[in-house]
Amino acid sequence: MDRCAEPGLPANDRFARALRDVYEQCLPSVEGAVADYIPELAAADPEPFGVAMATSTGQITTYGDVDREFTIQSISKAFNYCLALELLGREEVQSFVGAEPSGDAFNAIVFDPQTERPFNPMVNAGAITVCGLLRRALGEQALDFVLDRYSRAAGRPLRICEPAYRSEVATGHRNRAIGHLLVNVGAALEPIDPTLDLYFQLCSVLVNAADLARMGATLANIGENPCGGDSVFEITAVRDTLSVMFTCGMYDYSGNWALDVGIPAKSGVGGGVVGVVNRQLGIGTFSPRLDAKGNSVRGVRAFQCLSSEFGLHAFDFTNYGSQFVNDVLLKAPR
Ligand code: GLN
Repeated sequence: MDRCAEPGLPANDRFARALRDVYEQCLPSVEGAVADYIPELAAADPEPFGVAMATSTGQITTYGDVDREFTIQSISKAFNYCLALELLGREEVQSFVGAEPSGDAFNAIVFDPQTERPFNPMVNAGAITVCGLLRRALGEQALDFVLDRYSRAAGRPLRICEPAYRSEVATGHRNRAIGHLLVNVGAALEPIDPTLDLYFQLCSVLVNAADLARMGATLANIGENPCGGDSVFEITAVRDTLSVMFTCGMYDYSGNWALDVGIPAKSGVGGGVVGVVNRQLGIGTFSPRLDAKGNSVRGVRAFQCLSSEFGLHAFDFTNYGSQFVNDVLLKAPR
């Protein structure tokens, strides 16, 4: 269907209709299973599904269960990396964590054999390293600092799901093992427990699909929240973060994601996916059933549909759809 061929319909209605179509197309996908490594996630209702798109001018269009909260999980890794880059600079961060896709599962216990550093900040080893850097820069204030930035990007105060956090701590033996190996190779400092604690806390932040769309729109708007103009993230850190999201954000599906969808994105095992169309859109989806790689099945499908519907792929040969977004929505009155 070609939205641009419906000139009679106001831009926002065309957008809303497209979102509803995508929702309806993806809703019947019930493959996959909810994450079960902690009781809180295993008990999650598998059915909710929400899709939200926020423009870099502050408009939001939503469909489905977009107010339903879930834990942000690995999506936190992208925002944490952005903050570490801002606080310490790219060179310092790169001396602790690389920017190469690993091709391994997110919780793989594997480091770059050349550098003895985690491959990238989007896998657990790299993300725990980043939490170590945040602790080093901010000490005890790290959690409040990061939570404040997440909240300002989402445009509402976010909080931690205590039971999820406690479960992560109680069962996080693999992450703890990764943490100790990081100390062993010099990628993290002792004591490692406060670093792991920060990692578990940030995985346990509650968000909804609309929050993810707004957080994505803040990245799309080069770090400034489009609603109100709050400057949340540093501009060069956003560029670097989006680059790494593009190549590493969807675990070991990242290469095919780049082919299929072609926008920077990050997923989490809570069922969320955030995607960013540079200077145009933040997209958030939520559906808890995951595929074998840990990505939300409906979320991936919804992004595939939206990308082809609106021509969002970075290398779309006509860029017709995203031109539509640019021409029509971004020029619409706020
Ligand atoms: N808390 C999870 C873990 O560290 C996050 C993983 C994820 O979302 N992929 O295992």
